[in-house]
Amino acid sequence: MRTIRGTGIGTGAAIGRLCWLAPMSEGGTAAPAGSPAEEEARFRAAAEAAQAALQALYDEARGEVGEEAARIFSIHAMIAADEDFTDLVLLRIGRGESAEGAVIGAARELADRFRAMNDDYLRERAEDFGDIAARLCDLLSGGQSMNSLPDYGEPLIIAARDLTPSQTVGLDRTRVAGFVTAAGSPGSHTAILARSMSLPALVAVGEDAPLAMLNGRRVMLDAAAGELIPDPTAEQLAAGAARAAAAEEEEAARESLIALPAVTAGGRRVRLGANIGLPREATDAVALGADGVGLMRSEFLYLGALRPPGEEEQLAAYRSAAEALGELPLIIRTLDIGADKRVDYLGLPEEENPALGLRAIRLCLAGDRTLFRTQLRAICRAAGERAAAGAGGQVAVMFPMITLPRELDEALAELEQVQASLAAEGYPTDPGLTAGMMMEVPAAALRAEEFASRCAFFSVGSNDLIQYTMAADRQNAAVAPLAAGAPAAVLDLIGRAARAIHETGGWCGLCGELAADPAMTAPLLELGIDELSVSPAHLLRIKAQIRQCP
Ligand code: PEP
Ligand code: MG
Repeated sequence: MRTIRGTGIGTGAAIGRLCWLAPMSEGGTAAPAGSPAEEEARFRAAAEAAQAALQALYDEARGEVGEEAARIFSIHAMIAADEDFTDLVLLRIGRGESAEGAVIGAARELADRFRAMNDDYLRERAEDFGDIAARLCDLLSGGQSMNSLPDYGEPLIIAARDLTPSQTVGLDRTRVAGFVTAAGSPGSHTAILARSMSLPALVAVGEDAPLAMLNGRRVMLDAAAGELIPDPTAEQLAAGAARAAAAEEEEAARESLIALPAVTAGGRRVRLGANIGLPREATDAVALGADGVGLMRSEFLYLGALRPPGEEEQLAAYRSAAEALGELPLIIRTLDIGADKRVDYLGLPEEENPALGLRAIRLCLAGDRTLFRTQLRAICRAAGERAAAGAGGQVAVMFPMITLPRELDEALAELEQVQASLAAEGYPTDPGLTAGMMMEVPAAALRAEEFASRCAFFSVGSNDLIQYTMAADRQNAAVAPLAAGAPAAVLDLIGRAARAIHETGGWCGLCGELAADPAMTAPLLELGIDELSVSPAHLLRIKAQIRQCP
């Protein structure tokens, strides 16, 4: 079978058995494969299998994360067995729908009913119907489900139409050696997570790539070459191993740069930070000579969980990152959930255009702010501990997706209140705690001067700034060419924002994927960018580039 090509994420290679995760069928219109009686039998078998799997998950999770967090699985098991749900599915099957279509239709109908309820708890349950429908459709289509990966006695290469960030962070690294998706793009959070997890991946291989047909076959995923090779020959395996060795050698050759500062040939000192998602990456950042963490994507703590991480749990994560950094600074970005980063337990509303919807700071400031305050308390406590220890290494807070000065003012007011309450409760606080914001919405970049007087620092989120300036969904491979490279309009916005920020004495970094493109190092420094922040894997390559800049 032919080699499948796509966009490689990372430089690694992986060999293993391909495991196809079948997608959830798209809706109630699919033609039924069998008679209503056959579709009913398929549905009943899938519902039974789902209940058994969910019960097993519940038993396992209860031991690991406790009764409360595990309860979600027993709720899903109950939905799979629920009479109202079953009746609705059977009614639709009786009308001639496929089992998959009937499951999705019934789940949507019940979710809409729950969403309209007055009770918060019941409204939140609406999302559970989507989850259980996806699980049932996995079982109906005969594909593997994320929760029942096969055991071939060798590593797995997961293949799917697409993976959500939550699915990606939940991949079992002891069994999964890489993944390949028909859709996706290098700027998506799924790709960013793959880099964080050092997981070789291939995205955007196209909807017509025969991934499903490769289920169970041995494949070689070569991220550097952007290829997935089915049934690799001995020569192909050797060529892949040689490429991986060459990439490793290149990286080893750069190790001499670790101890050298990120300074241009002309003597300009540039801060080179690391982007991290998981606290343990702070150790990699230090080992690779980063000047600190320019972006900690705190939402990664929320994505892999069954419930929002509490104050103590977050504090432990921030503390461990701060301690690993020692004297180096740590910028923690507050929760940027929404758009492609969804978590079931928050019961977020379905949105027509989620990337333009209730995401990041908008979500944190909307309605009940418990989620936001809990996170701010954990960040402020971590900052207070660092300050009290006198060990240097400030912890700073950064707000994502700020569009209007009013949002920044509200976020800063919450921060101030949290600091005051913590001090009143006797916790150490950092009186010098600094706050900044992501510059990633064109409306904010165009009026940067209005924000510049309000907070201490800025970091350009080029991934979103490109998506919103070019009106090109960062998830959608079909419009990726519009967003490729560094569009001139985006560079104009960055330059404009950096000038306005410098005029009021602030500094402006850049932590989107543009910072990791060596071809962009010189142009970005010329625009006045003070800090580049990249994933640990890119640190040395970008440092080499900075040192060659005039
Ligand atoms: C960005 O938008 O460039 C950014 C760094 O944030 P994220 O990729 O998490 O949206
Ligand atoms: Mg962003």
